[in-house]
Amino acid sequence: MAADTAPRTSNISVRRGEPLVVIDKVEKHFGELHVLNDINTVVNRGEVVVVIGPSGSGKSTLCRAINRLETIDSGTITIDGQKLPEEGAGLAKLRADVGMVFQSFNLFAHKTVLENVTLAPIKVRRIPRKEADAKAMELLERVGVANQAKKMPAQLSGGQQQRVAIARSLAMNPKLILLDEPTSALDPEMINEVLDVMVSLAEQGMTMIVVTHEMGFARKAADRVLFMSDGKIVEEATPAEFFDHPKTDRAKDFLSKIL
Ligand code: ADP
Ligand code: MG
Repeated sequence: MAADTAPRTSNISVRRGEPLVVIDKVEKHFGELHVLNDINTVVNRGEVVVVIGPSGSGKSTLCRAINRLETIDSGTITIDGQKLPEEGAGLAKLRADVGMVFQSFNLFAHKTVLENVTLAPIKVRRIPRKEADAKAMELLERVGVANQAKKMPAQLSGGQQQRVAIARSLAMNPKLILLDEPTSALDPEMINEVLDVMVSLAEQGMTMIVVTHEMGFARKAADRVLFMSDGKIVEEATPAEFFDHPKTDRAKDFLSKIL
């Protein structure tokens, strides 16, 4: 498919592949709080979408809803043509297909780096250990931490741990990876090593939804920026359009605080 091999550019008109994630009229409340308010968007295969917005605007809730870590009140979320399952085997399959990387690295503290990466492929995908080990070493190599494979997570820096977390999510061959503020818990000098891995994933065509305020990453890797405020998608634009010419006062105000 020509569209799949097109170079990545920050151009909203570049629409690789077919829709992978379709979010339609999604609503969610936490009690009185309208945390997701009429959310509609489509993420195509191979697209990188950056979600940006003030704290409390619903970004994490949206990610968690896509991975069905959070229920929604109404509307639909479809991944690769399948409506999100409610429970059971369908849910396990969804979790295997949708990788998630959190702000806090969430590695299994009592397992080695290598075991962190092989655990799900062996348990969920039933891949033989030898094969899982080989694939894991390849992924650890790709994120630059293969020499740490035998260590325990606590022996690694934050940036290294987050790169292991990315390798772990890749080990399941996900259709999509959600990254929720993957660099915000890191010391400044470690941020770039994680962003570099994310940029290279984007260049390799991984479909990604990334909550981040790292504009350098957004400008380099994102096809689209979604700006959320008070549970709504207030702006949806290319990174260049959004950062250089935000349309709403809410976006202008937000950007004036983070720039
Ligand atoms: P963001 O990631 O944009 O900072 P969140 O999606 O984490 O925002 O949260 C949006 C709002 O929902 C916040 O006001 C938060 O306090 C509230 N919230 C998040 N999770 C829960 C929950 N489990 N119960 C009640 N309120 C929640
Ligand atoms: Mg959040």
